[in-house]
Formats: sequence, structure tokens, C-alpha cells
Amino acid sequence: MQIHSFPIHRIHDLLETRQIGAVETVSEFLERISAIDPGLNAYLATFGEKAIEEAKLYDSGARDFSASPLAGAPVAIKDVIAIKGELTTCGSRILKDFVSPYNATVTEKLRRAGAIFLGKTNLDEFAMGSSTENSAFVKTRNPWDRQRVPGGSSGGSAAAVAAGLCAGALGTDTGGSIRQPASFCGVVGLKPTYGRVSRFGLVAFASSLDQIGPITRDVEDAAIMLQAIAGYDPSDSTSVDLPVPQYRAALKQSIKGLRLGIPREYFIEGTHPEVEAAVRTAIETCSRLGATIVDISLPHTEYGIAAYYIIAPAEASSNLARYDGVKYGHRAKNGADLLDTYRKSRSEGFGAEVKRRIMLGTYVLSAGYYDAYYKKASQVRTLIRRDFLEAFQKCDAILAPVSPIPAFKLGEKSNDPLQMYLSDVFTLPASLAGIPGISVPCGFTTEHLPIGLQILGPHFREELVLRVAHQFEQASSFHLLAPEME
Ligand code: GLN
Repeated sequence: MQIHSFPIHRIHDLLETRQIGAVETVSEFLERISAIDPGLNAYLATFGEKAIEEAKLYDSGARDFSASPLAGAPVAIKDVIAIKGELTTCGSRILKDFVSPYNATVTEKLRRAGAIFLGKTNLDEFAMGSSTENSAFVKTRNPWDRQRVPGGSSGGSAAAVAAGLCAGALGTDTGGSIRQPASFCGVVGLKPTYGRVSRFGLVAFASSLDQIGPITRDVEDAAIMLQAIAGYDPSDSTSVDLPVPQYRAALKQSIKGLRLGIPREYFIEGTHPEVEAAVRTAIETCSRLGATIVDISLPHTEYGIAAYYIIAPAEASSNLARYDGVKYGHRAKNGADLLDTYRKSRSEGFGAEVKRRIMLGTYVLSAGYYDAYYKKASQVRTLIRRDFLEAFQKCDAILAPVSPIPAFKLGEKSNDPLQMYLSDVFTLPASLAGIPGISVPCGFTTEHLPIGLQILGPHFREELVLRVAHQFEQASSFHLLAPEME
């Protein structure tokens, strides 16, 4: 059976009705990883033996599948999220040997729901990037075209789901790192509202923006995974104590009568014509499903990149100060004194992009520049947030492209950070505003590269975003296509 090509909910049905076994399921994924991943580099580490041991507990009846829809589901975790006793490298030399002393809240919750961890996935170092080329270890390739990037920074998770190397995965999104790789790899990626999912045990990049979310084969799976990880956590004071709706139940409702806003600032020159065409066709599909399409404006969109690339590096420079070679992580061997040890450890441990962000961030926070840069960017952030709040007076959810371009070639942008930053234009505003967003497959270019539709909703309305995504997905068939891997 092609278990590796099934979504989690289907695998779970087959497991529960004993049409497949848990060991059989996990083995199929592990064998596929051995066969295919050397050419893709989606994983940084795999937990083959442990995964098989856990699967045996299901087959022997020691554990049962009725506990949760994730029971027995083989999943992968972005290597910036802690799993107790396993390496958490963040794709960085500075944490190359760092073993997590505890579980992140999300990994704890997934474990309790019965998910089986297959391994940790590759990423841009400390999640800084849009192509996964900034990993200190390997470059992940796009399963649809191995000459191209999978997107980033959760490129390993997106590639693993697309290639059938796990049934679902966790990614993190600070400025688009779940949605953009999902769109580049033709899978579903959901960034929850800031505060919906606990960040405890997630290695911090930009703490006012970071969120953890699922990358899956279809929208129903995204709802299942979000259900398992969402909710207030006393260990993360920014997680919000609001009731968590029943996401899966919300999917079934039609979108008839919903007002879907089309922001004119997201249909601009420079967007790949086939991306725009696919998104426009998706909008027509939603209209055919009974939604009312309304034109909206998000006037401060063009300032998103500038504001984000001040705020995120500022927070990063502060968060990354803890890697000093003393408490944990890489320590340079030949430091003359304490200061020299700091300097050498950080010089050796961090890659070029991380160093660039630390320098940018330190600069915009320094005395004399703070008001001109950091404070101004924070004010712009408020304006961007206000744009969305006003737009949601006129519409229930927003439809837009995820990225102006499909997956680009490896190396194409890696020497030009500005070009790389510009490609985040459509994902950054939602991150700055803290609202939820999803990428759902909506077409392919003539070169067979996937295209994603972005659906944004008001704060804490993931059930609405998921519902629109599911209704669109069920009216299309792009999510059923998988790349040729053999
Ligand atoms: N590409 C953006 C950056 O480089 C977003 C990364 C992310 O969401 N982690 O910062």
C-alpha cells in the first residue's frame, strides 16, 4: 500500500480498522527516508529504532488508536523545537551538539496525542531565511525539482511532507517560514495566531513574531495537528487563554455568504504571471462556492519588509546573545581570555546570515538609532495591524498569493540578501499583525512548480481560515498530486 502518500486522517482510519499495522506504517516511511532522503536532505536526524518501538506498542495492543486522531501518526519536527534527549541544532554549528533537556510544549502535546516522531528536519540557521540554504549542515532540495529550493525556513518539514517522508510535520513561522515552504512544495502550511500555540521549547528567533504550526498533506490534517498543539500554556506567558474551537468540525461548513477580501496591494507588478493567474482562478472557485468577493486595501503593505527586517533582527540580536560559548553550545578552544572566547565562539559558531542579522539588530537598537529605526518600525507595525483590523470590517477572510514567485533555483538568491528578503513581501504583514494564515495548493506553473493560495483571517479565527481552505481544497484537486520521487 502507498501509506506514505496518505494524509494523517486516512492513515489513522486504516490503523484503527486494522487494515494496516503501526510498525508497517512507520517502516514504510523509514524505508522511504533511507531511499529518497539522501537526494533531498529534508532530515537532519531520524529516530528509526525508537519510532519502531513506539509503533510496536500499538500493534501489541498496549496503546490504542482511539485516544486521538494523531495516535500512530508518523510526524517530523523542525529542528528548532525541543524533543527531550535529542539534538536540537537549529541548523547551526553553535548548537551542533546541543541535546534538549526537556520537551517543548508542542512535542509533549503531540506525544500525548500518540504521534510517533520520525526525526528532526532541516531549516535555515535559527530559522533565518527563505530557502533553507542557510543551514550549516545540508541544503534541502525541492521534491518537485531538485535544482530548486524547498523554500524556508521550514524547508525540511515541507519537503518531507511533499515527498512522503512523513505524514505531517511541525514548522515555525516568524515571517512566512511555514506558509512559503508549503507553497513551494505543494502542501498545506498553517501559521496560527500569535499566542494560539505555546512557544515553550521553541528556540527563540524573534519572540514577538515566532509561532509554531503544522505542515500537512491536506487541510483536515492541519486542523487535526493544530487541535493537538493549540491552547494556553502557563510556561509561555504570551500564549493566550482562550477556548480552542473544534477545528475539524468547522471544516464541513460551506463558505456560502462569506465575504472574501482581495487586497489590491497583493496583486502588483513583479508577481510571476502564472502565480497571479492561479490565485485569480482560486478566487473564482471561491466565488462559485458562494462566497462574495470584495475589493479591499491594506495600504501599508509596502512597508512590511522594511519594518520586519528591523524588528526581527533586533529581537534576534537580543535572543542570540545567550550563545556565548560559556553556558552551552560551541566554545572556541583557543580563547585568550573571556572576551576573546566570546568573540571566537560566536565567530566560529554562527553562519553569515545570522551574523548579518545580529549586526543589523544591534545597530537598530543602539543609542541614537533606536528611535529612528526600531521605534519607527514598531509604529509601522501598528499601522499594518490596523490595516488588517479595518479590512476585517469589510470582509471575513482575505485571499492572496503566498509568494510572488514559485520555488527558485538553489544559489539563485543566496548571494543577494535583499532579493531574498523581498520574496517575503506577501507573508510578512500577517506576521507583523499576528493574524493566522494558511497556504493551500492552488495550481502549478508550466514548469510543474506548485503555487500556494494564502488565506488570512482575524486574530484567533483559525477555524475560519481552515474552513475556507478546506472548502477550496475540496473543490480543487491540487493537493492530491505528489512529486515523482522514484
Ligand atoms: N524569511 C524570513 C526571514 O528570513 C522569515 C523567516 C521565518 O519565518 N522564520 O526572516
